[in-house]
Amino acid sequence: MTNFIDNEKLNQVLNSVSPTDGKIEEIIKKSLNKKRLNLKETATLLQAEEPNLIRKIFIAAKKLKSQIYGERIVLFAPLYIGNKCINDCNYCGFKSSNYEVERSTLSKLELQREVKVLEKQGQKRAIFVYGEHPDYDADFIAETVRLAYEMKGAGELRRVNINAAPLSVKGYRKLKEVGIGTYQIFQETYHYQTYQQVHPSGPKSDFNWRLTGLDRAMEAGVDDVGIGALFGLYDWKYEVLGLLEHTIHLEENYGVGPHTISFPRLKEATNLKVNNKHLVTDQQFKRLVAILRLAVPYTGLILTAREKPMLREEVMKLGVSQIDAGSRIEMRGYTDFEKEQDVKKEQFKLGDTRSLNEVINELVQEGYLPSFCTACYRLGRTGEHFMEAVKPGFIKEYCTPNALLTFKEYLEDYASKESKQVGEELIEAKIAAIEEQQLREELLNKLELINRGQRDLYF
Ligand code: SAM
Ligand code: SF4
Repeated sequence: MTNFIDNEKLNQVLNSVSPTDGKIEEIIKKSLNKKRLNLKETATLLQAEEPNLIRKIFIAAKKLKSQIYGERIVLFAPLYIGNKCINDCNYCGFKSSNYEVERSTLSKLELQREVKVLEKQGQKRAIFVYGEHPDYDADFIAETVRLAYEMKGAGELRRVNINAAPLSVKGYRKLKEVGIGTYQIFQETYHYQTYQQVHPSGPKSDFNWRLTGLDRAMEAGVDDVGIGALFGLYDWKYEVLGLLEHTIHLEENYGVGPHTISFPRLKEATNLKVNNKHLVTDQQFKRLVAILRLAVPYTGLILTAREKPMLREEVMKLGVSQIDAGSRIEMRGYTDFEKEQDVKKEQFKLGDTRSLNEVINELVQEGYLPSFCTACYRLGRTGEHFMEAVKPGFIKEYCTPNALLTFKEYLEDYASKESKQVGEELIEAKIAAIEEQQLREELLNKLELINRGQRDLYF
């Protein structure tokens, strides 16, 4: 597979559009009909600079988000397995030339200890993160996932996603065997020249090998993949088109686009050496999330704890479907949960260091329904967003009831007394809003079973 990102083509599309009221409204209409937008339509939204047009885009994104996803927000936590790295990405605290950072890999015991802390907090979904290093080959990654799935204590991790370097087809097969969730690779920048500048050495300097990493995953049968761009390296509008072009490539070649798109913003890290010309402001960040929401209505959008709580709250409304909560990104960060974060040990600085319980309390206050659902992946319903797109009523029949069941478990097993009361009220209100009687009864039965101590029930 060769490079399918044509820099000139993307720039040319960006420069050839002229947003008018009428055009923006037409594009919004297509998106509200839940159709994926093409490059030109998305470029038109990106080039809309007038406040009145931007307002229209925000309103439409909020509407689409609530129509498709309702109030559900899926929660997860990152777990750093090893920070040894042979790449020298300019922007990252783990780059090989950063001698200030302590390098290590979790031992089996340390990994179990970290997973135990996550489980005790009530986490059910984790993403394991690895530097790029010969020690972290497919066998090693598979072993860490197997170890985590084997553990059963106060709860269990039911889905482990991966964020690591691209592998060979053979490597992905090994991960498929141990039942990973999503395999995530961020291209960082889709602009070839910038890519070469910020990745001066190591295997990551090969743009094509990284770009085609998820094609190899698909070939190996790992059809649940996540893409992303690190915003701040190059023009944000160009990167949005890059993400869309990548999505279209996967759709056209494998019949299914990425399960998720991530849009991390560049954060402070030790010895960071980046040009600040392309740093993305909060307002631009909101615009890019809203436009992504409209461009790919059924793709999950992930907002990470790199951002501060207040901004997270605003951005969530514009189309986010998943957030991490209670996150620690230092090695052994969960075992030492209460310790102050130390930027020297981290890959970058986190903006939101609240605990999972604090985040959940706030989500509930804001009217969101926290979800730890892992049902689709467990039942082999490949890529829930794909199901949402093809099966009418899927979210009402499956996602919302499953969110309620997993939230109920959380309240029973991990929540404080006050959170439990507020949470129970939310569950009651949601049940009352379910129109279909049979579904409501089945849900009530399952909730009662959870009351009596059963766990891991889903539709
Ligand atoms: N080493 C693997 C790789 O590079 O793909 C995976 C893990 S890397 C630790 C995860 C992601 O963190 C990177 O893909 C990059 O987008 C992001 N990242 C790196 N440095 C960052 C920074 N200073 N601020 C925000 N995000 C950063
Ligand atoms: Fe290594 Fe990934 Fe950091 Fe690059 S982004 S230095 S590959 S950990």
